[in-house]
Amino acid sequence: MTARIIDGKAAAADLRARVGDAAAAFEAKAGRKAGLAVVLVGEDPASAVYVRSKGKATVAAGMASFEHRLDADVAEADLLALVDRLNADPAVDGILVQLPLPKHIRESVVIERIVPEKDVDGFHPVNAGRLATGLEGFVPCTPLGCLMLLKTELGDLTGKDAVVIGRSNIVGKPMAALLTRASATVTIAHSRTKDLAGHVARADIVVAAVGIAQFVKGEWLKPGATVIDVGINRTDTGLVGDVDFDSAASVAAAITPVPGGVGPMTIAVLLRNTLVAAYRNADVAFDE
Ligand code: NDP
Repeated sequence: MTARIIDGKAAAADLRARVGDAAAAFEAKAGRKAGLAVVLVGEDPASAVYVRSKGKATVAAGMASFEHRLDADVAEADLLALVDRLNADPAVDGILVQLPLPKHIRESVVIERIVPEKDVDGFHPVNAGRLATGLEGFVPCTPLGCLMLLKTELGDLTGKDAVVIGRSNIVGKPMAALLTRASATVTIAHSRTKDLAGHVARADIVVAAVGIAQFVKGEWLKPGATVIDVGINRTDTGLVGDVDFDSAASVAAAITPVPGGVGPMTIAVLLRNTLVAAYRNADVAFDE
């Protein structure tokens, strides 16, 4: 069997086009563009690339992008003061502080400082709690993008056995919550899981968010499974995922490639979340 390749680039382009239309409608109604503020602390090259591409995508979707760059040695209090200013700025609908932050700054304190209504990354405990309890709120972009790909691929997820490998607050936990909400039967695996391959062997859906290059092997998979590879690992031969693509593609029914799978969806969902925030913050109806 050779798996169908799930085209995250095409799905993301489609979502971005829809966001672009809705952003134009928002501007016509609200008399201003929806705005996303992105804060980068320090010079981490990967973070700088992410921030640049988020800014470009924001502008391309017809929204305003506000980039704030702070030195790596900025005091935590100064970063919090910037977050306070952005919280109060009516031109800013969404605030994203690019992680990771330098060691001397407490990420949880910074995340909690962003008002939940502008927390388009969905990392604030209020939004995490809203997801966990089934209330409307902002859902982290990467797992929401994964869910969109899964729904496009499989339709109704009711009763599907899903294994999420990884339990981070950014990917694994919200992914499991979204799959549970979609009525899948969900197993969350992590570094202390016994017999991971045995769990994966029963799964109709496997989401790998581990951070180890080519960790999930094709031999582990149930034939016909759908595999979502969240991993981004830089190796000498280029970017690879957390799934051993070649062996997995010979067993799975469908699989996301790296690059070109989950990655592009993450930014598209960020734009979508920002636009949703704009409609809510400006109290403009979303229907046209
Ligand atoms: P974290 O490092 O925060 O979490 C990794 C998870 O994997 C942990 O829960 C850890 O378990 C688990 N794990 C580690 N080793 C094993 C093992 N041997 N067996 C089973 N589970 C294991 O990573 P993130 O969730 O932030 O990211 C995961 C991956 O996704 C990374 O490659 C990252 O680069 C990528 N990523 C991609 C994005 C995109 O846009 N495509 C966005 C965000 C992340 P434990 O909790 O026990 O330590």
